[in-house]
Amino acid sequence: MAEQLEFSVTFWGVRGSIACPGPETVRYGGNTSCLEVKCGDRRMIFDAGTGLRKLGGVLAREGACDIDLFFTHTHFDHVCGLPFFAPLFMPGNRIRLWAGHLLPEYGLRQVLVEMMMAPLFPVPPDIFQADVSYNDFQHGDAMTPMQGLTIRTGPLNHPNRATGYRIEFGGRVICYITDTEHFDAGRDPNVATLIAGADLVIYDATYTDAEYPKFKGYGHSTWQEGVRLVEDAGAKTLVIFHHDPSHDDVFMDAVAHEADQARPGTIVAREGMTLRP
Ligand SMILES: [Zn+2]
Ligand SMILES: [Zn+2]
Repeated sequence: MAEQLEFSVTFWGVRGSIACPGPETVRYGGNTSCLEVKCGDRRMIFDAGTGLRKLGGVLAREGACDIDLFFTHTHFDHVCGLPFFAPLFMPGNRIRLWAGHLLPEYGLRQVLVEMMMAPLFPVPPDIFQADVSYNDFQHGDAMTPMQGLTIRTGPLNHPNRATGYRIEFGGRVICYITDTEHFDAGRDPNVATLIAGADLVIYDATYTDAEYPKFKGYGHSTWQEGVRLVEDAGAKTLVIFHHDPSHDDVFMDAVAHEADQARPGTIVAREGMTLRP
C-alpha cells in the first residue's frame, strides 16, 4: 500500500497588523502572518510576516532551498519579514515570489523594491544572492506547481485587495483565507467557493462579533463568521487566525473556549503549531 505523503501546515506567525511579542502573548505567539505548507517533499510559504525570519533560519541550516512564497497581499504585516529571510542571501537557492492582487496597477517586484527603498530600508532587493523571481498572477487563476498539487485562488474583500488560497494535495484540502471582511447579507461567494468541502480553513478572525461594529470597513472578519462560513460550505475544521495584537493569551483562551462550544473541533492558531488535514 502506498504511504500517504506528508501534507501539513506549520504556523510561524499568527498575528495581524503588527507583531506583539511579550509575556502576555507568549502562548499564542506575537509574530505576524507566515505559514509553511509541506506537500510531500515540496515546501511552500504563505506570507512573509515577522514569523518568516525564524523559518528562514531553519531553512538556511538545512542547506539549499527551492521554494515558492505566495503573498495574500502586500500590507506591511504580510511582507515585512521578507528582507530578514536568510535563504534570500544564499547563492544557489531558488525562490519564487507570487502575488495575485496587484495587477494591473502594480507589480510585485516594484512593490518590494519600494518597501526596501532608502531611507526606509538600508539595502535594496538587488543584494539578494539567491535566484529570486517575482511573479504576478490574477486571483481567480489556478496553479499546478507539481503533479498532484493544485492551488486555486480567489479575490478577498480587503482594502487594496487580497488573495485567498485553496491548496489541494493527496485528496485533502487546506485553505488560507486572510485578510478579508464578510458582508452584512449572506456569505461571501468567493470565500464560499474556495472553502467548499475543505478539511482545514484558516480564516481571518481578527475580531469577535461583539467587537466588529467598531471596526467595520477595516477589512477583517470574526471567528463567529468563520463558524457560519465553514458550516455553510460543508468544510471540516475552522482555524482561527490573524489575531488582533490587543488580544492577549487570556483573551485567546476565552475565544478558544467559546469557539469550541459553538463548533466543537475549532482550533485557535498558535505559533509553532503544525496541523495535518
Ligand atoms: Zn494582515
Ligand atoms: Zn491587510
